[in-house]
Amino acid sequence: MNEKSLEWGQTPWDNLSREELLREVWRMYLALRATDTVMAQFQYGHEASPFWSPGGTGGKAAEMLRQILGPLHEQFSSGEMYDRFFRYAGDLLFDGSTGYRTGHGWAICSVCGAMYAGAGEPPIGQSCGSRPMGEPGCQGVFRLLQWEDFGRKPERRER
Ligand SMILES: [Zn+2]
Repeated sequence: MNEKSLEWGQTPWDNLSREELLREVWRMYLALRATDTVMAQFQYGHEASPFWSPGGTGGKAAEMLRQILGPLHEQFSSGEMYDRFFRYAGDLLFDGSTGYRTGHGWAICSVCGAMYAGAGEPPIGQSCGSRPMGEPGCQGVFRLLQWEDFGRKPERRER
């Protein structure tokens, strides 16, 4: 049994604040982007299959993605959107404790803003100045990325 119910015409997002709604849009964008990549891999070599035709399940899903991502990427390049925000925000938009690589595990220096993500554990709590990827002489310490680093305030999610 679900804990909440909806009236006719209502959706789960109707009463969210602008910032909460934006978070959901960002999460959905990253999920759609990931889904688009996976679908392209499955579609490759099977383009003529009825599954990917206008009447097929795959064709319908691909068209829905195209109608969302296409106009967006005509205005803003997918790479620029990723480089300016989503490469980093993925750490905060999804729960990384599940073991799946939904983010990159970015570490940021609290003083100079140097950022690092790489294989293995992020250098949280380590001195920026003593790390090869840090600023020589910087007195800062690496910590996990936060919404404030994007110039955004965190907002509690209550449902
Ligand atoms: Zn630093």
